[in-house]
Amino acid sequence: MNKVVKLALICNQIDKDGNDVDYKDIYKILWDLQYQTRNIKNKSIQYCWEYSNFSSDYYKENHEYPKEKDILSYTLSGFVNDKFKTGNELYSANCSTTVRAVCGEFKNSESDFRKGNKSIISYKTNQPLDLHNKSIKLESVNGIFYIYLKLLNRGGVKKYNFKNSEIKFKIYVRDNSTKVILQRCLDDTYKISASKLLYNQKKKQWMLNLVYSFDNDVNNNLDKEKILGVDLGIHYPICASVYGDYSRLTIDGGEIENFRRKVEARKISLLKQGKNCGDGRIGHGIATRNLPVYKIEDKIARFRDTANHKYSRTLIEYAVKNNCGTIQMEDLTGVTNESNRFLKNWSYYDLQTKIEYKAKEAGIEVVYIKPRYTSQRCSKCGFIDKNNRPVQARFSCLKCGYSENADYNASQNISIKDIDKIIDKEKEK
Ligand SMILES: [Zn+2]
Repeated sequence: MNKVVKLALICNQIDKDGNDVDYKDIYKILWDLQYQTRNIKNKSIQYCWEYSNFSSDYYKENHEYPKEKDILSYTLSGFVNDKFKTGNELYSANCSTTVRAVCGEFKNSESDFRKGNKSIISYKTNQPLDLHNKSIKLESVNGIFYIYLKLLNRGGVKKYNFKNSEIKFKIYVRDNSTKVILQRCLDDTYKISASKLLYNQKKKQWMLNLVYSFDNDVNNNLDKEKILGVDLGIHYPICASVYGDYSRLTIDGGEIENFRRKVEARKISLLKQGKNCGDGRIGHGIATRNLPVYKIEDKIARFRDTANHKYSRTLIEYAVKNNCGTIQMEDLTGVTNESNRFLKNWSYYDLQTKIEYKAKEAGIEVVYIKPRYTSQRCSKCGFIDKNNRPVQARFSCLKCGYSENADYNASQNISIKDIDKIIDKEKEK
């Protein structure tokens, strides 16, 4: 999957003698290259058109189309590209990217051109400069991002008295998601693809449309530093929030409770039946005798599976909507018997597994913390006391008076980075 991020560039170029190059001079160079690009594009179209005419005449005489390689000894785009080896200052890889694109465009519309349905493309003045992916190099120094764009061929380097074909720019990083994208391009999570440098006439500025790609279909603009704290099952199956955000996601799980009550009632009546049953099930062992009960267990498992899928999906959608790149949860393995959880028998392991799986698909990292005191700690002032919870559903801090829904308070604690270490330290005092 390909995505584009628009980057404002600040000139940061020095010449061969180490002198700063004024941005106006860089802009002049870019405009020169733009002019050359436009010429190359229009000439390429001309070559394509000539070949197309030749090819159609050939067809009239021979009743078959000629093979490009027999006539041109290259492919058409290779042949056209060869025409621009000299006579311009464009870095060769970029130049051939441009030529290939034009030839592709021509071939896509060739029959329309021939029938006269479309007039032959004529490229206007404000053309973008194509950049081959190998012409782009990103660098980060002391938290500042720089980009080196190979733009000039040898003739150009000489003409402008530069050290090499690259022109250096500082990237103006306007927000955190841009920063995250650049960081991932640097650490190879994303691959930089062929991109375009274009002049924005409104802003009077050259901008880079940086194209990057990644394997899976994930939303990767998410902010890794933004943690969604997910509390599972104190009062509700899920309560999730970002630290300091009043808004929260609460999944109340009423349907589970209803289902459970219905099922329990049915189970009890069936077990009673089983004990006294006088039909064919007797004498075939406990498994056969309690068959309807086991069927109910299957039904519970299916219901749970469906509900957990739904809950985890809702949670991940909430995380993406809030730009959270990280989900933090308590590691609940081994605490399934804790009496004050919403439903003792509800499989939190299953729910967490589903959350983790869907998070991965969405490009969200899952972090587990030790499940200690997150429900007794005041998320506002850090005071820990089991009497902070006068009633199960309510949290009221005995120290600062902060009062909130208990699940929300717990999720606030869980949304704090390294909260288990912080709590350990607080308990040491
Ligand atoms: Zn407090």
